[in-house]
Amino acid sequence: MAHAYNIEVELTKNSNLEKVDFNNLKFGQILSDHMLVADYDDGEWKSVKIVPYTNLSLSPATSALHYGQAIFEGIKAYKFADGRVSIFRPDKNFERFNKSAVRLEMPELPEEIFMGGLKKLIATDSAFVPPVDGASLYIRPFMFGTEPALGVHPSKSYKFIIITGPVGAYYNKPLRVKVETFYTRAAAGGVGFSKNAGNYALSLYPTRLAQDEGFDQLIWTDAKEHRYIEEAGTANLVFMLGDTLVTPGSETVLQGVTRHSIMDIAKSWGIKTETRDVSVQELLEGIEQGNVTEAFAAGTAATLTPISEIGYAGKLYKLPAPETREFSNKVLDYLNELRYGRIEDPFGWNF
Ligand code: PMP
Repeated sequence: MAHAYNIEVELTKNSNLEKVDFNNLKFGQILSDHMLVADYDDGEWKSVKIVPYTNLSLSPATSALHYGQAIFEGIKAYKFADGRVSIFRPDKNFERFNKSAVRLEMPELPEEIFMGGLKKLIATDSAFVPPVDGASLYIRPFMFGTEPALGVHPSKSYKFIIITGPVGAYYNKPLRVKVETFYTRAAAGGVGFSKNAGNYALSLYPTRLAQDEGFDQLIWTDAKEHRYIEEAGTANLVFMLGDTLVTPGSETVLQGVTRHSIMDIAKSWGIKTETRDVSVQELLEGIEQGNVTEAFAAGTAATLTPISEIGYAGKLYKLPAPETREFSNKVLDYLNELRYGRIEDPFGWNF
């Protein structure tokens, strides 16, 4: 290892722990006592510390605020019945984070800071991991350009921060989604595979328009012809088409850890799986013919959320009732058993 980072910990004197009601958690409202902060300057990561959660002080010229060099990740940690805490597959998020960094011309994070920092931060704030079924600690690593100067060029300095907070469910009901055929999330050669802030900013206006029509979320389609299904708001899409579990595979889609895990579990159960293009026509005809028995959104925040209805060109396509869906219910149960440490972890996903 080129550099050994000694991660110092400064503990808070004013804990927020008492204020947390673990049985009544919303998404993203409560933050844990501490955060990890690392600074990059002069071509290297200089300091890595765990400090009490606090505001940042930034120059109004901070480059990320103007030119958008900002990337993030979303990970969850779960509490086992015996009190141990497990982080679900953070190595996959670490890998994706550095892919995002490369695409946004930002420095990559050394494993020691991302994974080592994550481990130490979660150990520091382990009391914030909810001891409650269905709840977890949401972990948000992020990095942004901090150079205090205007002008479009890669920032010379960066901050990498991890904050965390206890969360409940992100969606609490089946989703009604609309196939978007005008606006575009990502084009070939663009940044769709990276988890950068701009991808979320651009989604807000088209999503609000769909919500005005009574939908919960959009299904993005390809930028060129809007013929192929890509993904939903903050989750990948998975369908049971006939006897095969299918997820759209294009490079413009964020390569989700949740759907990857679900596909791997399905494979281990002997179910046929395919990562490939799915056209809007194939999906909608399949629904009309009763050939699409399951459709769901898969993501760290969303976990597995069933899709109840799909809107396209003014028409609504209804899917089978969520409680009748054999695979989704079984795989969600299995994932929960695994993440809360109630069954063996044959894949080695609990960290
Ligand atoms: N697509 C998008 C656009 C997302 O924001 C997310 C959430 N990170 C996902 C898919 C699902 O990815 P994961 O399963 O890794 O959370």
